[in-house]
Amino acid sequence: MTSALTAVFLVALAAMLATRLWLAGRQIAHVARHRERVPDAFADRIALAAHQKAADYTTAKQRLARVETVVDVLVLLALTLGGGLALLVRWTGGLGVGPVWQDVALFAALALVSAIASLPFSWYSTFVVEERFGFNRMTLRLWLADLTKGAAVAVALGLPLLLLALWLMRTAGDAWWLWVWGAWMAFQLLVLVLFPTVIAPLFNKFEPLPAGDARERIEALLARCGFSSAGLFVMDGSRRSGHGNAYFTGLGRAKRVVFFDTLLARLNGDELEAVLAHELGHFKLKHIAKRIAWSAVASLAFLALLAWLAARQWFYTGLGMPPDLVPAALARPGVALALFSLALPVFTFALAPIAAQYSRRHEFEADAFAARTAGAVPLVQALVKLYEDNAATLTPDPVHSAFYDSHPPAAERVARLAALAPADAPAAA
Ligand SMILES: [Zn+2]
Repeated sequence: MTSALTAVFLVALAAMLATRLWLAGRQIAHVARHRERVPDAFADRIALAAHQKAADYTTAKQRLARVETVVDVLVLLALTLGGGLALLVRWTGGLGVGPVWQDVALFAALALVSAIASLPFSWYSTFVVEERFGFNRMTLRLWLADLTKGAAVAVALGLPLLLLALWLMRTAGDAWWLWVWGAWMAFQLLVLVLFPTVIAPLFNKFEPLPAGDARERIEALLARCGFSSAGLFVMDGSRRSGHGNAYFTGLGRAKRVVFFDTLLARLNGDELEAVLAHELGHFKLKHIAKRIAWSAVASLAFLALLAWLAARQWFYTGLGMPPDLVPAALARPGVALALFSLALPVFTFALAPIAAQYSRRHEFEADAFAARTAGAVPLVQALVKLYEDNAATLTPDPVHSAFYDSHPPAAERVARLAALAPADAPAAA
């Protein structure tokens, strides 16, 4: 079984790497082929210069993603079959602390390795790519402050969860995975409650949406859709980036509506209402609830699989643990958890197109909801402005888009909305 798992892992890893690089190559080539001409559907609304900026921005991001993909695969190989994790297991095993804290040290070391591998890309993305295209508004100081706060939040929330999971794995018997699943679901609920009031304010300022035309229209829309919320807020998104957005956050009656200041500055009242109606559609059509239900089912299945694998020697040796280390690994549940977390994404990568397809269906449904409640024409106008402002490509490669994109390609989205608009609407042309 050992060599069988090694072979399956290597084949899946190679397939993932090849697919990612092939898709990035397709995207770059497709965008380059369509760089010289704005697609007909947008010809009277987007200038050639903006279209070409979007093409160059897309290409720059894909080039960076290609390098990051290769680095990620190399780090994963080094940690698993290369013996990196085995080295960390031996080192933490000799620390002279209890077994639970040995596992905590193991996860801390893995987090450090992953940070060292990913931080240069995050830095380059912000200060080179985003900077070159005029989106970045961060200083190095703010970037470092974000990093420190992010790490503190991860420790404050993640450490208790990890300790609880490791304790349950040791003491809850054969059904520990059910208990860990319960803890995981409760943890997600807690984060949902804490995010708007405790976590997000650590990073941004939130101020009530000022009274005026925009606020009145949005309140009318919420009332029309029977939606109760604990407030409308403006977030200083412009502190970090020129990209605009709007989102819902929180749970039940404590839900908040958050607009980036960049979005408010750019959209008129009709357009803002249409964008919010789209977000509202996700709630009204139960997309959020369906997503949470799917993630609950998936995490239960993965934990059951982990429980089964964790008791099998070939699971450890097949992913690079030397046989002499297996008895120690079997006695430390954190080792199975770490190995599983490293290897799982290689196998779930094949599910990405299914998840993306599911998400795109929801986007079409939310667009149709927005067309019914706020009008298709202002939503199209808002989308065109956002595509232009965010330098989102209007000509993605169809295969790349089908595999990854959570949102439908611009042309398809606008075409469907145009079909929903009244025939005499002036801006639908
Ligand atoms: Zn959406």
